[in-house]
Amino acid sequence: MNKFLNLGMRFISAKQIFSGKEFLSANTILVVNGNGLIEDITTKENVESSNIEHFEDIIAPGFINTHCHLELSHLKNIIKQHTGIVDFGLGVMKHRDEFSIELQQEAMQLADKEMQTQGIVAVGDISNTNVSIITKQESNLYYHTFVELIALNPERANLVFDTGKQLLSEYSTAQLSASLAPHAPYSASLELIKKITDDCQQLNKATSIHNQESKAENEFFNSKSGDYLRLYETIKVPIDYFKATEKSSLQTIISSFNEKVNTLLVHNTFTSKEDIEIAKTTHQQLYWCLCPNANLYIENTLPDIHLLDSNKCALTIGTDSLASNSGLSIINEINTILKHQPNTSLELLLNAATHKGAKFLGIENQFGLLEKNKKCGINLIEGQSGNYSVKKLA
Ligand SMILES: [Zn+2]
Repeated sequence: MNKFLNLGMRFISAKQIFSGKEFLSANTILVVNGNGLIEDITTKENVESSNIEHFEDIIAPGFINTHCHLELSHLKNIIKQHTGIVDFGLGVMKHRDEFSIELQQEAMQLADKEMQTQGIVAVGDISNTNVSIITKQESNLYYHTFVELIALNPERANLVFDTGKQLLSEYSTAQLSASLAPHAPYSASLELIKKITDDCQQLNKATSIHNQESKAENEFFNSKSGDYLRLYETIKVPIDYFKATEKSSLQTIISSFNEKVNTLLVHNTFTSKEDIEIAKTTHQQLYWCLCPNANLYIENTLPDIHLLDSNKCALTIGTDSLASNSGLSIINEINTILKHQPNTSLELLLNAATHKGAKFLGIENQFGLLEKNKKCGINLIEGQSGNYSVKKLA
């Protein structure tokens, strides 16, 4: 033990310690060195009691934010709430280029710092451009970038894919982890989804897609009707080639995904039991991301978390961007869920926020689990259910 003390070793105990997968026994002690590395996980009997730092709250690994758009950080408070997804999307298109690059960079750096303060250690970040590269290179956070591609017209699949590969190479050159991702079912052809996810398989990386964020998305696929027709009219993009499939969006697209690729379905606000069953049968490596604050901001609704959990969907949590959220905080997403669906278990949500997110991104060797020889970040979660706050201990 003297060797440990000389190195600024801490012996941390808490009312509850969540490993990333489960709550550990009450007499667990985390032995953490000055660099935040877990040197050992032991029990109280093995540590001199005067050396133990005890917390009357919950300890958990650093959080994984599986869905963010760092490059939209400058749009905080710009787009009105509760407009629905089509007007939200039009708002992003209208305003995203109205700001100087300096202002955008500053907003991204602040957003990155906010995530660090909020106990986030790794981020799955959607990017359409290279503007976030500098912030990501300079950050202490681990970033995996999803280079997001948009083309509903199947004839554009090759061109858009090639452009995406060029942008992807800029991230690789900058030594940042990255892969391609289709934007959403209503904005990516089946051909493009297949090309993207075959590429992800070759790179052995995950992919991501926004899924069933609105009722309009299912209407578009079921009967080629609803608000998405207005979107394509407004942006003057003809979609004569698009035919209704008489199925929901998820049921239409799921078989186009390479089934060996970890695939994140983001939002799932209008996903039915039948959608879940068909998707899970078709694809075994699906993860389902909850972004409740963005759902309330845009559509003023929430996904049915009990439905997803009772059908054994692997859940993760994301903040989405500051264009549709007042902050980038995983604990605030958890608070929102606990306030609106109070029967949801904290264990389920902490697992989604830590180990499941790390597993999805393929970084579970480093993050998402309190284990010997890991530097996964250590969070102290204080307060009451629905009103938790987080402090970084390491
Ligand atoms: Zn998003």
